Amino acid sequence: MKKITLEMPVVRNCMASECAYNVNSACHARAITIGDATHPGCDTFLKGLSHIRQIQQIAGIGACKTSICKFNEDLECMADNIQVGMIKSEANCMTFALR
Ligand code: SF4
Ligand code: SF4
Repeated sequence: MKKITLEMPVVRNCMASECAYNVNSACHARAITIGDATHPGCDTFLKGLSHIRQIQQIAGIGACKTSICKFNEDLECMADNIQVGMIKSEANCMTFALR
């Protein structure tokens, strides 16, 4: 496998316990994608069994499409880290702040 090293903000914690990538309130995907243009939902959310093989891995923010957020530059997240939580039945970036 070809490996790349990138600096990106991380998911500090995530309260979406139903998501397959969530173990003990941490996201263990390699990287997640947030949003559409106006709504910062977690596109990587997958309801299901835990993804426990990669428990040592902490997710980065690979891309964010929510360009109205003040932390968004050129469709990338520039926050130090983000928190993800549930709003109604949807996982959302709680660090989102309108420009
Ligand atoms: S909802 Fe998103 S941030 Fe939370 S564990 Fe799932 S993929 Fe990761
Ligand atoms: S803080 Fe803003 S730019 Fe970063 S992931 Fe959340 S919505 Fe996107």
